[in-house]
Amino acid sequence: MTFDVQLATDNYINALGAEVLTKAAAYTSGSHWTLLWGFLISAAVTWLFVKIQVLEKIEDKLRNRSLWLRSVTVSGAYLLLSSVLVLPWTLYSDWWREVAYGKTSQPLTDFVTQGSISLVISSVLGGLFFSGVYFLMRRLGKNWWAWSGGLTAVSITALMLVGPIWIEPLFNNYTPLPQGQVREALEVLAKQANIQPDRIFVYDGSRQSNRFTANVSGLGSSARIAISDVALKSASLDEVKAVTGHEIGHYVSGHIWNLIGTAMVLSMIFFYLTNAMFNKVAICMGLSANIEDPKGIPVLLLCISFLSLLAQPITNYVTRVGEIEADQYSYKAVNLPDAMASALVKTAEYRDPRPHPWQELVFYTHPSVEKRVKAAMEWKASHPN
Ligand SMILES: [Zn+2]
Repeated sequence: MTFDVQLATDNYINALGAEVLTKAAAYTSGSHWTLLWGFLISAAVTWLFVKIQVLEKIEDKLRNRSLWLRSVTVSGAYLLLSSVLVLPWTLYSDWWREVAYGKTSQPLTDFVTQGSISLVISSVLGGLFFSGVYFLMRRLGKNWWAWSGGLTAVSITALMLVGPIWIEPLFNNYTPLPQGQVREALEVLAKQANIQPDRIFVYDGSRQSNRFTANVSGLGSSARIAISDVALKSASLDEVKAVTGHEIGHYVSGHIWNLIGTAMVLSMIFFYLTNAMFNKVAICMGLSANIEDPKGIPVLLLCISFLSLLAQPITNYVTRVGEIEADQYSYKAVNLPDAMASALVKTAEYRDPRPHPWQELVFYTHPSVEKRVKAAMEWKASHPN
């Protein structure tokens, strides 16, 4: 009897049961709505900041200081204060909803503490980045948008290099993966990808999420494989191999460079269009400032977040292509399509495994679990041994 790919795929998805599938669909469409609500809330925050003129007051206090100090302070202050203002929404969308759907068991106090650390870091780094953008605006005039795209690429690359060393350890505890079957299997995979065996770690991912996950981060000699303790507790050895194979697939296929390149091109387009639309949006919001004026940062960021929302289908398409490639790498490297399918099914609760094609096209960063399981079964059918 020949192997029936569609039947095998259906069996994997149907095994989840109607209740889980309904819940996954509700969680997924809710997540998509939170994107839209998040944007509308940021529009309201922009309007409020323009109205209360707090950034003008900060800029006024610093009027005798350098442009750099003014732009870094005003940008950083806006990122910090606006995030504090939307805290109730963040608590609902990033914590309460996750708890309600059983996706995290993180206590509220820990969520708030970690969120505060992350907010301080992002305000400082964001302030520095936008001070660079304001510098380019004043120095380069109408070509600032192109150079700012280059600045975006450099900033992301720097973050990828230092993130695993300086930032990630602030949120999780990384320790070398102990000796045993899992370590032996991952050492084989690491060797194929030229990752040093002393760069294989386990981290307490269960602190933030009940999700079964692993990742490969960093560049060159800072590259490392990190596997969440959730995977060690809830996955079989073959599932760990299949999933880590996928993550290593991202690394060896150089997806990090696709990501940096896409971010550079898109940010150039975003900055160019923001340049064109800034004055009109500023008038709508009641702001009297030029684009190169740091106190206009709420409007600048609103334009960028509007364009990012519109560009979701493009960015998601790029990441979906990378996900397919990474899955294929895993099949070639470890040839465990069934383990991959069962691991994928365990993540189905996070994304409706059977979305409407339009929903997948617009919002999905990964192909649907149904499509990925089907690809695994197709691999199995064409590689019977
Ligand atoms: Zn992936």
